[in-house]
Amino acid sequence: MDTNVEAAEIDKFSALAHRWWDKDGEFRPLHQLNPVRLQWILDHVALADRRVVDIGCGGGILAEAMAASGARVTGIDLADASLQVARLHALDSGLGIDYRLISAERLATEAPGQFDVVTCMEMLEHVPDPASIVRACAQLVRPGGWVFLSTINRNWKSFVLAIVGAEYLLRLVPRGTHDFARFLRPAEIATPARAAGLDLVDITGMEYNPLSQTVRLGGEPDVNYLMALRRSAI
Ligand code: SAH
Repeated sequence: MDTNVEAAEIDKFSALAHRWWDKDGEFRPLHQLNPVRLQWILDHVALADRRVVDIGCGGGILAEAMAASGARVTGIDLADASLQVARLHALDSGLGIDYRLISAERLATEAPGQFDVVTCMEMLEHVPDPASIVRACAQLVRPGGWVFLSTINRNWKSFVLAIVGAEYLLRLVPRGTHDFARFLRPAEIATPARAAGLDLVDITGMEYNPLSQTVRLGGEPDVNYLMALRRSAI
């Protein structure tokens, strides 16, 4: 049995699974930030022919973009409905992606060190034990490989912008999408990452401008942020 999962979270995403590829729907912010986060990954590592696992892949928004960049992508999630949507959409896009219903921890025991790149975006803030996912990322990546994570910081500003602003005022995402208590300070990721053999290479803020509806990287990682980590070569 997988224990590091909250059924209510999986139900929430399953109920919206048919909306993954509606670019004007509930997942619109993910579609808008996708090119920016993909470029940030590519700024660190070339993806052509690389083995990549995307943890908490949902409908495959990032997985498809990485596959289109030449990566050999495995996408994993615990919401079966999302995986079904992801598989159909990949067929439509002509992309060969291996989508699997398996937890990060279980895949890490099955295929340790098998991936050049591990991505886990906008997912850590939805699990009971994010440090366990970080350790699984460290186990999945080969020595010298990269891990790219994104989540939301926990402070007054992220409460105002990511909960009050995004869910209540601007309604960018449905109410209840995020639980403030699950937001993660960078050190809460960096500390277990370091203990698991991952070095923090880069961290950047990711800012959504609701007026222009554009996403910009840079600035403080005080609300949304991206982290690049690397497993040492030996
Ligand atoms: N990474 C995708 C989707 C983010 S939404 C993107 O950025 O575009 C969060 C995803 O995490 C959902 O698809 C949800 O089903 C998944 N998720 C939540 N808890 C999970 C868990 N314990 N294991 C795997 N996936 C999980």
